[in-house]
Amino acid sequence: PSNTDFVLAVENLTVSFDGFKAVNDLSFYVDENEIRVIIGPNGAGKTTVLDLICGRTKATEGSIKFRNRELTRLREHDIVKAGVGRKFQNPSIYGDLTVFENLEISFPRGRSVFGALMFKRDAEVISKVREVAGKIFLADFLDTQAELLSHGQKQWLEIGMLLMQDPQLLMLDEPVAGMSVGERQQTAELLRSIIKDRSVIVIEHDMQFVAQIADKVTVLHQGRILAEGSVDKVKNDPKVVEVYLGH
Ligand code: ADP
Repeated sequence: PSNTDFVLAVENLTVSFDGFKAVNDLSFYVDENEIRVIIGPNGAGKTTVLDLICGRTKATEGSIKFRNRELTRLREHDIVKAGVGRKFQNPSIYGDLTVFENLEISFPRGRSVFGALMFKRDAEVISKVREVAGKIFLADFLDTQAELLSHGQKQWLEIGMLLMQDPQLLMLDEPVAGMSVGERQQTAELLRSIIKDRSVIVIEHDMQFVAQIADKVTVLHQGRILAEGSVDKVKNDPKVVEVYLGH
């Protein structure tokens, strides 16, 4: 298949930090409607790969094509505009605003918190906020101040803030860290429910959660791909077993 069949084509990607290759000649491809999970021991290069895709770190070599657009030369905010959303481990929500307001200010027209709040609430934004709030299990919490939400609800709110921008590629770094079993289950449902017309890349350690959400797993080790395929395939791969036991 040609590269044009993929939403995301990462090819021969390398980044060196003072001569150390944190990502080393890496190539992988993500389809539309796919949830790809990246696993691997600490220091494998997982976070660096997401940093490279969202433009926070610049590649030393290689290319990142997103819907056939080269991302490696774009600036971070232009990559966001191109349709790439990234959630970091610590939620960046506004604690003193309500759930409704947090979602509202994330609608693309909002440039700043105060600027966005001064726009009148039109029907389009309200209906989008309601749609997203339903997906993230916060329909009954629209008037709740964000800082009063549980840890899990805060994580969902941040996913919701990204969904307000309708990213075609959503990247999440350990989305269920610190969540209860029930919240993990709901997060898996949430991710499966938003995958239509989108691709999702998740970094995750919890293999039970990985098994619930992953269409395909990429195992990184020392900046390279150690194994790739279904959860069952990579779990039983002797190379993968060895790397995990070795830690
Ligand atoms: P992972 O997310 O898989 O734990 P990282 O992508 O965070 O791994 O890191 C991969 C390697 O690159 C690690 O050895 C880390 O120390 C190194 N590294 C990451 N970012 C930088 C940086 N900005 N400068 C120097 N070294 C870095």
